[in-house]
Amino acid sequence: MLGSHVGLGGKEQFLGSVKEALSYKAETFMVYTGAPQNTRRKDLSEMRIPEAAALMAENGITKFVVHAPYIVNLGNTVKPDAFDFAVEFLREELRRTAEMGSDTMVLHPGAHVGEGEDAGIQSIIKGINQILDADTKAHIALETMAGKGSELGTSFEQLARIYDGVAHNNKIRLCLDTCHLNDAGYPVKDDFEGVLRELERYFPLNQIACIHLNDSKNEQGAHKDRHENIGFGTIGFDRLCAITKMTEFADTPIILETPYVPKEGEKERAFSPYRQEIAMLRSGVFNPDLIEIIRREAEA
Ligand code: FE
Ligand code: FE
Ligand code: ZN
Repeated sequence: MLGSHVGLGGKEQFLGSVKEALSYKAETFMVYTGAPQNTRRKDLSEMRIPEAAALMAENGITKFVVHAPYIVNLGNTVKPDAFDFAVEFLREELRRTAEMGSDTMVLHPGAHVGEGEDAGIQSIIKGINQILDADTKAHIALETMAGKGSELGTSFEQLARIYDGVAHNNKIRLCLDTCHLNDAGYPVKDDFEGVLRELERYFPLNQIACIHLNDSKNEQGAHKDRHENIGFGTIGFDRLCAITKMTEFADTPIILETPYVPKEGEKERAFSPYRQEIAMLRSGVFNPDLIEIIRREAEA
């Protein structure tokens, strides 16, 4: 099922998120429960969840995923306060995820901030073990990371080490980000089947709870993490489109996190590309004029 990241805020709150997804003709979506770069969150009672759920039901949206804010870091062994805050916040965020009606919270595993891979991974395991218990309702989907800075979770082997250290790891899932995999060094464009076979050395494919479908501005192995619009980057349309057609992922939320399109000659991100990118992926045919069309339709 295909969808995109959508916003959450203003008066309409989560109801607005569902409306945004429907405006893209999406079958699913991903949402942050507030601004992704901070941890201020509204009370669930103010988020218009019942209305959002009704609108989803009316339109056949059966699944969506929540993304945890990317500023919390379970890998931080330098600042105990930051680690404790991350644990506390993520426990609440998992509860919010379930209350909103999702069973998956995507999480960037963490960054070791200079203390090394082993220290970071042990810290992440310790944190997740404080977050999950037998009664936790939603899953944590660990996202594959590009490897910029001291990010962890850049290889399946690292993710498996985290998984193996977690007591309630029946609550752990994976989120594959195609841009991040490419930037981490996996041959997404040339041999995605091989990437999945490599993954299967550590995890069965049914552990994949979410796919982030992004093209990349950078070459395989660049460790950069800069997303590009579908078909305009180094992975290319054919591979990304083929992933959306794989029967293995027919029931998996496939989420676009591609960049907004700036106005002609400007830099600032202005227009959502998602309605047009979703339509193009469904059609199976790349349109080299897509960026122009997005601008034209947005300005009309
Ligand atoms: Fe992410
Ligand atoms: Fe992602
Ligand atoms: Zn990214």
